[in-house]
Amino acid sequence: MGLGAARKTALVTGAAGFLGSHLVDRLLDEGYEVVGIDNLMTGDLGNLERAGRDPHFHFQMGDVRESIHVYAELVFNFACPASPVHYQSDPHATLTTSVLGALRLVEMARGRRCTIVHASTSEVYGDPTVHPQPESYWGNVNPIGERSCYDEGKRCAETLLNDARRAWGVDVRIARIFNTYGPRMAFDDGRVVSNFIVQALRGKPLTLFGDGKQTRSFCFVKDLIEGILALARPEPLLGRWGLRPDEPGSAPIPPFGPVNLGNPEEFTIRELAEEVLRIVGSDLEIIHAPLPADDPRQRKPDITRARELLGFSPRIGLRDGLRATVVDFQARLAERSPKGR
Ligand code: NAD
Ligand code: UDP
Repeated sequence: MGLGAARKTALVTGAAGFLGSHLVDRLLDEGYEVVGIDNLMTGDLGNLERAGRDPHFHFQMGDVRESIHVYAELVFNFACPASPVHYQSDPHATLTTSVLGALRLVEMARGRRCTIVHASTSEVYGDPTVHPQPESYWGNVNPIGERSCYDEGKRCAETLLNDARRAWGVDVRIARIFNTYGPRMAFDDGRVVSNFIVQALRGKPLTLFGDGKQTRSFCFVKDLIEGILALARPEPLLGRWGLRPDEPGSAPIPPFGPVNLGNPEEFTIRELAEEVLRIVGSDLEIIHAPLPADDPRQRKPDITRARELLGFSPRIGLRDGLRATVVDFQARLAERSPKGR
């Protein structure tokens, strides 16, 4: 934002979470006035330490299922537990956060000039039968399983937001985010990267679920946030579609659907465990535990659309991203206990 220009306001729901807090920092760097909302279900105010020192950041303790009284030109809807352990601990809260959260934001945005960037997920593809997954794939989701509160909640939110776009012209941009990791993940997050790193740093065996041959594609948080910001920026997109942002009466809605954001490099979970052990320099054991129900066998984004529309191109490979994440976990563990355990 140029000097002297009025600051635009960005609202980030789920601001105290892993991705939300990185987004807040990046938006402050870009010159936005940033309002963060979070109910701290899985978030941590410690993630907002840097933002809290910035006079342009404002935190509201709140639940997105209730009405939202903040008006912002740009809304990033990131509120929702994302780790299977957490989202399955309160399935009702997970499903209602996705669906009612999206509804409240549409109510806020309707009739106003406002862009909603929504954090959807690769989980909308379920246990995919098409590989890699393009946005045109409709998915293979169990509607009544243990993961359904998350998967179907996210699918329903996508439906609701697209209906609002068609019916009321709400400018909606949907990011289908694939497994993202990095500094600030909670110790007890429960997702595989943080589990393996915490286990390795504590000298405990790594818990590999199933045979470890299932795959995921891991994106470092910095790359992901760049993709989210590119998706939020109206100008290049509108230019691409021949619209001007200030053109009276031109609904500033780029005619594209959801966009996959992730790093297409695919690894088995066993390969991930071995990489973590190489980085931590540990010869710890890998132990097997049962594969959770409906655990997808494979996952890899087709990012052609993100490349073409947004110029999105993840730069940080797994080894470098894991190294940076390990350094962050080591520092936080050392803060907790002088022995780092
Ligand atoms: P996270 O659990 O660290 O963050 C979620 C945040 O939302 C937390 O701060 C939590 O307290 C808050 N929250 C939950 N319910 C709320 C409610 N009802 N009202 C207000 N705040 C609420 O998870 P994350 O990894 O940062 O994920 C953020 C978003 O990105 C989620 O919507 C998630 O579905 C999506 N996403 C993340 C990934 C990933 O790999 N990290 C992948 C796909 C999608
Ligand atoms: N996983 C594992 N050990 C763990 C946690 C997860 O082997 O301690 C596996 C899990 O079964 C899945 C993969 O790692 O196959 C990714 O799990 P995560 O919970 O990170 O994300 P998601 O399943 O939602 O992609």
